[in-house]
Amino acid sequence: MARHAVTLVPGDGVGPEICEAAVRVLEATGVQFDWDVHQAGVAAIKEFGTPLPEPLLASIRKNKVALKGPITTPVGSGFRSVNVALRQELDLYALVRPVKAYKGARNLRDDLDFVIVRENTEDIYAGIEFEQGSADAKHLIDEISTLAKKKIRPDSGLSIKPVSISGSERIVEFAFDYARKNKRRKVTAVHKANIMKHTDGLFLAVARKVAERNPDIEFEDRIVDNMCMQLVLRPSEYDILCCLNLYGDIISDLGAGMIGGLGLAPGANIGTNGAVFEATHGSAPKYAGLNKVNPMAVMLSGVLMLRHLGEIAAADALEGAIASVIAVGKSVTYDLKEKRDDPTSVGTSQVADAVVAQLKAGA
Ligand code: NAD
Repeated sequence: MARHAVTLVPGDGVGPEICEAAVRVLEATGVQFDWDVHQAGVAAIKEFGTPLPEPLLASIRKNKVALKGPITTPVGSGFRSVNVALRQELDLYALVRPVKAYKGARNLRDDLDFVIVRENTEDIYAGIEFEQGSADAKHLIDEISTLAKKKIRPDSGLSIKPVSISGSERIVEFAFDYARKNKRRKVTAVHKANIMKHTDGLFLAVARKVAERNPDIEFEDRIVDNMCMQLVLRPSEYDILCCLNLYGDIISDLGAGMIGGLGLAPGANIGTNGAVFEATHGSAPKYAGLNKVNPMAVMLSGVLMLRHLGEIAAADALEGAIASVIAVGKSVTYDLKEKRDDPTSVGTSQVADAVVAQLKAGA
């Protein structure tokens, strides 16, 4: 059986303990891994003088696949989010977030099974901003007011929203490829093209062209506000939601809430230079080292990683084992219980024990 070289970034806060749990269940599938462990964030600053050391980036570029724990962005420390920097350095342009209701979880409804594919590099999140009152903001306000023949209030701050043909094309192509590889039937482009004609309108026009090249997968589009209502009322009509950056961010949290919270929300950042699999949640520092939080989001990110590596049988087995543990409801952490102070909830490591036992029972 082929071995897979994977970069492992345990991260900080609860990262190391949930990653340890995820590694244990991934290895219990029988798939063989060579883990190349790298520190990032505060721990890396001590050794390398940077939160995102070059050897870590080189390792992901070489292995093309990483499993990552969350990394704290200290408030006011001056260092920008390592997570954002990592996405930019490796051009991880697609953020994939499945939203799936597992039986026994605190789901809003039981028929949830859709995937958010979020553009990760442009839109209003491009980080091009001009501070209110600055000389640059004033200059830009004057220029835009002349060009657009519309008045911008002089006491405004500005954020720029670039949306390109190339950026739109690759994310929509990605959504169709993902649909095909994962036996999904439909891609829905999510936008606000009725208001933002030259950004969202461009995205929609590109999406329609890409859809013509992919006639085997159904295509439709929805305006983002309607999309939110539809997801609450008729989620089973949707499959892959291909979203611009901001809408994808917001709909991801809507989705996480619909399946009972962050403890079951996995994610994958995929791009030209590799793929980084990580839970949606952060480092939950107040729970660090307490063997308390739910490791299932990072385990389910591991399921996505197995599928990405072509280990489909192992992915199905691991997802099935996690689903069984949730359905039985005995070996689950506090967040999956009706009451958060339920004394029968177990710790991070015991969840891994239960998933491993389930995998062995199903083998
Ligand atoms: P968070 O996701 O870390 O925690 C918010 C709350 O959600 C926690 O207090 C906890 O109640 C709950 N929670 C989170 N994960 C859970 C789990 N696995 N099981 C059970 N409950 C869970 O969000 P935050 O407090 O806003 O961020 C903490 C730090 O994490 C910040 O420094 C932030 O920048 C960073 N962060 C990192 C990433 C990443 O590495 N990708 C993502 C988001 C936030």
